[in-house]
Amino acid sequence: MVFPDGTEAVRDVSFRVDRDEFVTIVGPSGCGKSTLLKIASGLLDPTSGHVAIDRDHVGYVFQDATLLPWRTVRQNVELLAELRDVPRAERRRRAQEAIDLVGISGFEDHYPKSLSGGMRMRASLARSLTLKPPVFLFDEPFGAVDEITREHLNDQTQLLFRAERFAGLFITHSIGEAVFMSTRVIVMSARPGRVVAEFEIPFDYPRPAELRFDPAFATLSGEISRELRGGHR
Ligand code: ADP
Repeated sequence: MVFPDGTEAVRDVSFRVDRDEFVTIVGPSGCGKSTLLKIASGLLDPTSGHVAIDRDHVGYVFQDATLLPWRTVRQNVELLAELRDVPRAERRRRAQEAIDLVGISGFEDHYPKSLSGGMRMRASLARSLTLKPPVFLFDEPFGAVDEITREHLNDQTQLLFRAERFAGLFITHSIGEAVFMSTRVIVMSARPGRVVAEFEIPFDYPRPAELRFDPAFATLSGEISRELRGGHR
């Protein structure tokens, strides 16, 4: 991908994500992670190369929760189904199911401004879930919340992944987040971003919170960190 001003954002990137796979891309800031996700979602056309994805059935979770401030949580969660003309009762049912799944039951009638950052992110996740997408793209969605909330959201996301069995493509700076949730981690180099390493993550699901303190988890995180630093110890 070369932008009109000549910036080469990514080069020679090739990978495939199947259903039942949760693939996370980690890489230094500015290496082209968001660009890749925008290409995958169809927001950007690559200057060369090819993307095959079912664009009509993609769930997208952004860095920002992008909730409408004048709608309640329930009305926000129903929005995508509403835009697709899903009948009212069915919309309501799906929204409630998604709200329960992400753990914000009881806040249906609250407005976004009265929610914490983590809860807004959960509402945003729930909104995408109502369409039951077979493909989910996550653009560093939990970067702006505190560490404890992020871990909760990671716990919940891996449970959602196992329940819904979508194909997940997740972007993050956090190695711990990547290892905890993913079936595979792709490491990218600095710009122009290239794939420098891939790691299969062997832990069984559901993954308990304590997995983060397992020596095997630390070893894998260390190996990924080394690749991120260009192979230097
Ligand atoms: P990341 O998500 O890994 O932080 P981005 O995909 O946002 O990186 O950006 C990759 C590189 O492309 C950066 O150097 C960024 O400045 C550049 N870039 C992103 N969008 C544009 C654009 N529209 N025009 C020119 N350069 C851009």
